[in-house]
Amino acid sequence: VDDLTRLLSDLVAIPSVNPMGRGLSGPGFLEGGMSDYLERWFSVLGVPFERRPVAPGRDNLIARYDAPGSRTTLLFDAHQDTVPTDGMTILPFLPTIDAGRLYGRGSCDIKGGMTAMLVAFARLVRERPAGSASVIMACTVDEEFTHTGSMQLAASRPGVDLAIVSEPTRLDIVNYHKGAVRWKVRARGVACHSSTPHLGFNAIYRMARVVTLLAEYATLLAQGEAHPVLGPPSLSVGRIEGGLSVNVVPDWCEVEIDRRVIPGEDRLAAVEDAKAYLIAGLGDDAADWLEFIPPWVNMPSLSPCGESCKIWVERVQNAIALGIGGTPAVAGVPYGTDAGPLNAAGLPSLVFGPGDIAQAHTKDEWVELDQVRMAAEAYYQMGRTLGSEC
Ligand SMILES: [Zn+2]
Repeated sequence: VDDLTRLLSDLVAIPSVNPMGRGLSGPGFLEGGMSDYLERWFSVLGVPFERRPVAPGRDNLIARYDAPGSRTTLLFDAHQDTVPTDGMTILPFLPTIDAGRLYGRGSCDIKGGMTAMLVAFARLVRERPAGSASVIMACTVDEEFTHTGSMQLAASRPGVDLAIVSEPTRLDIVNYHKGAVRWKVRARGVACHSSTPHLGFNAIYRMARVVTLLAEYATLLAQGEAHPVLGPPSLSVGRIEGGLSVNVVPDWCEVEIDRRVIPGEDRLAAVEDAKAYLIAGLGDDAADWLEFIPPWVNMPSLSPCGESCKIWVERVQNAIALGIGGTPAVAGVPYGTDAGPLNAAGLPSLVFGPGDIAQAHTKDEWVELDQVRMAAEAYYQMGRTLGSEC
């Protein structure tokens, strides 16, 4: 096996499952094992790097390649975490190669892309090609749930000219995508014995009215102003929980709401708008029993970059063409990425990587090794050719 395949196999064999807010812990969860491996890997490569704590057991790994005389710095970003392994039909952490595909959790999202970036980064460090860009290689945490890793990275003002975020884009450039805001609404009631329900207030009945209104609201949103490619904004109630036992009138019920925003929409205004719709529909007494819990996911969309960034799109397209022998398409996608938080902090950001999002998060996740090799070549060409000013 070649170095690239060995590196990807190593990364897939290290579990780095994001608990996705479920309070799961133990070996296999969080990014610690990946960070340890990356720390050794950057040490062996002999580059300066930092391990920056984001949360207990979760560290961003940030390494640098300083190109002599470079006028630009690129940020390469790939996340260390994967989604959980529930329902998988293959052994998630036993990388297996079959017909040019490498199977395993994270192979497609995004250990394949991280491998390609690391291989390109190492080659830049070893070859130090004349005129190359400096590169900050960031391996972030918690992309799959709340993006805390990339938010911390963005807040640190990394001093780069352009961010390239690795996600499975089938070697095309993604320059805009939706964002998301997720929050809970809680209905309170008054508990009592279920044999005398008239003595209490049933929180589940109250929530039933809330959910009906949210469904109406979602329909209105779907008919509202749409993005030409990404379509209209959306709202979905994805979880409901409440009550203690069947013989108790419940005093609480909660729903979780996922609101996807299109570029240009304000996320907190979207939450306020939904809130106003509920209050108007429920009547004034709702203020006494309905509680809005602040969002726990607040992920910016990626806006198509303005004039200053259009030049970057062209230059990156040319670099990729040098690497893979064909000019990549430029498109938008519905899913969110680390490019959202980076772009919201004022960094021109583009998404590019090997593999197809259709294979990400699946029960038999895989990536085509040829795509990973081509991506490595493309990332290398970005580093090699983007060293001069725009
Ligand atoms: Zn991903």
